[in-house]
Amino acid sequence: MNKALVLEQEDKKTLAAVRELTPDELPEGDVLVSIEYSSLNYKDGLAVTGIGKIVHQFPMVPGVDFAGRVAESSNPAYQVGDSVVLTGWSVGERYWGGYAQQMRVKSEWLVPLAEGLTSQQAMVIGTAGLTSMLCVMRLQESGLKPEDGPVLVTGATGGVGSLAVALLAKNGYEVVAVSGKADSHDYLKQLGAKEVLSRAEFEEKARPLDKSRWAGAVDTVGGDVLAKVLSQMHYNGRVAAVGLAGSAMLNTTVMPFILRGVDLLGVDSVMIPYERRVQAWQRIAKELPQEIMTQVVEEVSLEQVPEHAKNIIEGKVRGRVLVNPN
Ligand code: NDP
Repeated sequence: MNKALVLEQEDKKTLAAVRELTPDELPEGDVLVSIEYSSLNYKDGLAVTGIGKIVHQFPMVPGVDFAGRVAESSNPAYQVGDSVVLTGWSVGERYWGGYAQQMRVKSEWLVPLAEGLTSQQAMVIGTAGLTSMLCVMRLQESGLKPEDGPVLVTGATGGVGSLAVALLAKNGYEVVAVSGKADSHDYLKQLGAKEVLSRAEFEEKARPLDKSRWAGAVDTVGGDVLAKVLSQMHYNGRVAAVGLAGSAMLNTTVMPFILRGVDLLGVDSVMIPYERRVQAWQRIAKELPQEIMTQVVEEVSLEQVPEHAKNIIEGKVRGRVLVNPN
């Protein structure tokens, strides 16, 4: 038995339904994985609701990440029973993904589960957590140090934002969180934020340069919020731009760059090479406090995914949604 959530398109509308997959329907690949957990990311929300045109062909099994055990392998690097994790590589958009009990994939998309993590924890972290660690790595590699000053995280109650708050705090940074959810203050402070600011403050039109407030920032929102953040960076401040939960547009001026030497650092988690993935997962396993993983999570079945997909697009999700296909 191999139950999956399958997306079909009818009259340009995306329809999502749980059904059995037959073995010959599975795509080509050298490793078959029995999936223990997948997760719900913003991109999955776009795919499942059909609001974002990110699915390349139908039928599609969505789910941009998963963790599980190898069930069959023709690559000697992976043995039956090995615990593996997959994120990125356009899985769940171009190739069939994690909302299934079993999936066949290319072994080069997999990484071994980092020591110290269970597959459940790996998907509480998921693409969102991996991406937030990549943001921390980008900021640190660009020279940002805790003593430089406060670091801002926007879209802070989201998957990437929540885990960025926790990881930055764990690395000794003073974290200031920006959230549109008025009731999120206690949650964000428990994750490690020193202060929580209202999103409304960042949606006002940005001046070319505003009061200098932040040494670093992780921006998951884009649009006016990112423009505002850029205008408030310290001299030589660094901003990791990672998301577009608000908008894909960026209407700004060159002033933060040419008068304050601000660095805008792009962060991608989809195509990063194997070695950097392994390095990021190892750091997460060491640095993400265990209690955070239970604080940020809600578990749902395949049948419940469509309703939660709608919620994530509407910005109603707090933390991470874990998908259990079994
Ligand atoms: P979530 O939906 O979990 O989080 C996004 C958060 O942004 C929300 O919780 C909300 O936080 C805030 N938000 C939502 N809608 C709006 C809006 N209209 N205007 C301003 N803020 C809004 O998504 P993820 O954490 O999974 O992903 C965050 C972003 O990062 C997405 O755009 C996603 O596509 C991108 N991403 C990029 C990756 C990469 O490789 N570059 C990898 C993974 C994600 P609050 O209510 O607290 O303000």
